[in-house]
Amino acid sequence: MIRRFFTYYRPHRRLFIIDFSSAVIVALLELAFPLAVQWFIDTLLPGGNWNMIVSVSIGLLLLYIISTLLQFIVNYWGHKLGINIETDMRQQLFQHVQKQSFRFFDNTKTGHIMSRITNDLFDLGELAHHGPEDLFIAVMTFVGAFWIMLTINVNLALTTMIIVPFLIWLITYSNLKMNAAWKNMYTDIADVNARVEDSVSGIRVVQSFTNEDFEIKRFTKNNRKFRRAKLTAYKVMSFSSSGIYMLTRLIILVVLVYGAWLSFNGSLSYGELVGFVLYVNVLFKPIDKISAILELYPKGMAGFKRFTELMDQSPDVVDQEDAIDVPSLKGNIQFKDVTFSYDQNKPVLEGIDLHIRNGETVAFVGPSGAGKTTICSLIPRFYDVNNGRITIDGIDIREMTKKSLRSQIGIVQQDVFLFTGTLRENIAYGSLGATHEDIVRAARQAHLEDFIAALPDGYETQIGERGLKLSGGQKQRIAIARMFLKNPPILILDEATSALDTETERIIQKALAELSKNRTTLVIAHRLATIRSADRIVVVTEDGIAEEGSHDELIEQGGIFANLHKVQFETSV
Ligand code: ADP
Ligand code: MG
Repeated sequence: MIRRFFTYYRPHRRLFIIDFSSAVIVALLELAFPLAVQWFIDTLLPGGNWNMIVSVSIGLLLLYIISTLLQFIVNYWGHKLGINIETDMRQQLFQHVQKQSFRFFDNTKTGHIMSRITNDLFDLGELAHHGPEDLFIAVMTFVGAFWIMLTINVNLALTTMIIVPFLIWLITYSNLKMNAAWKNMYTDIADVNARVEDSVSGIRVVQSFTNEDFEIKRFTKNNRKFRRAKLTAYKVMSFSSSGIYMLTRLIILVVLVYGAWLSFNGSLSYGELVGFVLYVNVLFKPIDKISAILELYPKGMAGFKRFTELMDQSPDVVDQEDAIDVPSLKGNIQFKDVTFSYDQNKPVLEGIDLHIRNGETVAFVGPSGAGKTTICSLIPRFYDVNNGRITIDGIDIREMTKKSLRSQIGIVQQDVFLFTGTLRENIAYGSLGATHEDIVRAARQAHLEDFIAALPDGYETQIGERGLKLSGGQKQRIAIARMFLKNPPILILDEATSALDTETERIIQKALAELSKNRTTLVIAHRLATIRSADRIVVVTEDGIAEEGSHDELIEQGGIFANLHKVQFETSV
């Protein structure tokens, strides 16, 4: 885990070297200053040479200035290093999430993903900056200070070491506790995020059921759980830092008393005693640092662990190594004995055979939950089949690159997603390089022209979050405009079940009819008009494909479709 963490330093190694070496020099100077004080008291002072004292002071001043400059570098560049690493990780994670397959998003809460990309990485930058640097300096200062202390007075130096086993115990104990506490804290804040995501995106449902209090109660529970976890972490942290404080002050007291006794006996000069006490402080500085790392390390590593967990999830739908680009498909789609399940236990589709010829419009009808949407989402490889194969123009879709396959399939879903931004940007999403003329043409083809012309800002109108300022019909037409821009040979329309008013429906119907011209079109149909105008109807039930044929053929057969038709449409025709 730690080795992997260090690989993130690689692109910033120059920064790391500058920062690290500056920090080491600062630490060495820190180590040397008490020695200078001791020499000042014991040698310079009795010598009584004022000029010497002045020049030594100027020398010290120069060293202090150098040290200050270096500390600036350590502070600023060190943090820069940390931020760079944190940003790199965030970037990688976002890119990784973009590449995940549908199955991943089926199983992962949006709030949890957000948490990983934001909060979880916050402490990593700090750890990246302070971790290796402070640890190295802590060890170096500790060993250095102890060595100098030994040269001053062996017995006194060894006495200070009584503290070490206590410190080791304290540090190990709190490290263990804190690891667990930070891990919980991250899980709990992710749950808080997920709860916020859920209830805010579902606020219309919440309020229409007047379930605000219920939502608040659920949130309170998550929020309190988070509070408890964080509090536990801080409790352990306070315990360890107070413990360290207590131990270090005790040892200073011991050094003072024992040192005083030694100096009465004449085996320690005043300068040595002062120098020694100063070194005890130098010795304890790294311990403070270690206790800071003690806080940072489990925090940062808990975040890093969650980061790697996500980074290690590879998408289940990937390009084969020898995948081919298929730049211009005709759209001759064939399902051969296709079996598919979302999870192991229960197959949704079994032994599906289906042939859709290029240019054909095929309507899928059947009870909800039968698998119509599933059939359609197998064609762009949102999921891979478990058994059997799907070919387009005779080529297995798993042998094509995802990019070339998907760029030739257009999908208009029931639920049109609009991005925050302008109307223009939302239409242009269908083809990012589209010119203004292209966009206007697409809007006209989608019958959006009059609507856009009536807006004061026209194409530059901002669409509210999730496009809520637009009606269902308008959103659908934006989706259709995107498709005109994308211009794919294969089209999949998952028709909205929500009833549009007849006028809107007529317009959308017209736009869709135009859109599906010269394209292979699969429609999951709820509207009679669509079903009638299709070349072929495929009836899907829980048991697979039950009937296939033209509208009139199926009515004549008097099977499932004829029945469905009677129940659903007879009253309205
Ligand atoms: P239809 O479009 O005909 O209404 P679907 O294809 O959406 O039916 O669903 C077929 C079956 O697969 C249903 O039982 C549904 O619960 C299940 N299903 C659909 N989507 C998923 C998914 N993402 N994960 C797990 N099961 C799913
Ligand atoms: Mg469906």
